[in-house]
Amino acid sequence: MAEVAIVGCGIIGMTTAMCLQERYPTLRLTIFAKETSPNTTSDVAAGFWEPFIVGNTSEEKIKLWSGTTYKQLLKWWREGKAKEYGICLLPALFFTEETEFRLPAWLDETLGYQKLSQSTLNDMSQKYNLKLNNGFTFISFTWEASIALPYFQQKFTENGGKIVIREINSLDDLSSFDVVVNCTGLGSRNFVSDSSVEPVRGQIEKVQAPWQFLIKIINSDEKLGYIIPNTNECTLGGTAIKTFDKSFNETQKETIKRNCIEMSPSLSSAKTLRHLVGLRPARKEVRLKIETIINGREKTIKVIHNYGHGGAGVTLSLGCAKEVADLLNVVLNRHKL
Ligand SMILES: Cc1cc2nc3c(=O)[nH]c(=O)nc-3n(C[C@H](O)[C@H](O)[C@H](O)COP(=O)(O)OP(=O)(O)OC[C@H]3O[C@@H](n4cnc5c(N)ncnc54)[C@H](O)[C@@H]3O)c2cc1C
Repeated sequence: MAEVAIVGCGIIGMTTAMCLQERYPTLRLTIFAKETSPNTTSDVAAGFWEPFIVGNTSEEKIKLWSGTTYKQLLKWWREGKAKEYGICLLPALFFTEETEFRLPAWLDETLGYQKLSQSTLNDMSQKYNLKLNNGFTFISFTWEASIALPYFQQKFTENGGKIVIREINSLDDLSSFDVVVNCTGLGSRNFVSDSSVEPVRGQIEKVQAPWQFLIKIINSDEKLGYIIPNTNECTLGGTAIKTFDKSFNETQKETIKRNCIEMSPSLSSAKTLRHLVGLRPARKEVRLKIETIINGREKTIKVIHNYGHGGAGVTLSLGCAKEVADLLNVVLNRHKL
């Protein structure tokens, strides 16, 4: 029976662990994590299903991974699991000033998408004092890791998986395992010395606005603003700035609130619950591949990397987890484990 270590317990590590447990019930699985929910970056995410900050990851892969997540969320939604998994199904409205604009390929994976008409764009441009040239609507989901992770952790351990709270300094520390799956997000900078994973700072405000049932995103040179309703609260955002600075920024708070109220004036009476800041693990492309590390004369460490999901970790998670399970099959067969 092969022994597999998964490093990281954010949305990527946890969904990977669940997928491996389901596909290979006899595997011995251990998750090692420095932090678990509610202290991961994944807990900060509003969990809006939309590929965002994914670098140059191919359109084909983004469509495949995000589409797999979308289908699974729809399945869970239909099975009545929305409450325990933290899923909401909502319409989304996206506007941009871009003129050279093509509808993203991943829209094909969604229900009921539509380009916005010129008259809607004119109307919105006037309201927001911008020149909005393109936009679309589609049916999307929010999937809150802060609700799903504790539930999945419990299910994983009930089904025989182990979770160990421990920082792992290097792959060598796990050389006794048959395979290591690296789901450390931004932590991969140290864990596997990959300095190409870079932080993209996001600041958000959680408010109480139970009347808000529409996701709105505005993406222009001057403004990035989004309103994302969740199960018990509504997320207002946001920022996307390359920096390691996780401190709360008062000026950005004001800008976020102003932009969101402009998009949805009724938010001016919404009660502020809290402010959060997180660092998205951005990379030139998501790293999802097998690596064999030769360590000394005889010893090799077989690693499957799954990190660098930028602003779309929740959106891509289930598709990437499925691909890790496929890659593990290759590793297990190749090495007769
Ligand atoms: C403000 C904000 C809003 C966002 N909104 C969305 C959204 O709406 N939709 C969406 O899809 N995405 C969104 N994201 C992006 C999403 O949060 C990330 O892509 C996602 O959290 C990445 O997941 P992860 O599991 O790789 O990383 P993390 O959640 O950071 O988890 C990494 C795990 O690895 C562990 N770890 C790291 N190094 C080590 C080590 N050496 N040893 C042991 N453990 C280690 C950590 O402790 C943790 O358990 C948002 C992000 C931010 C900041």
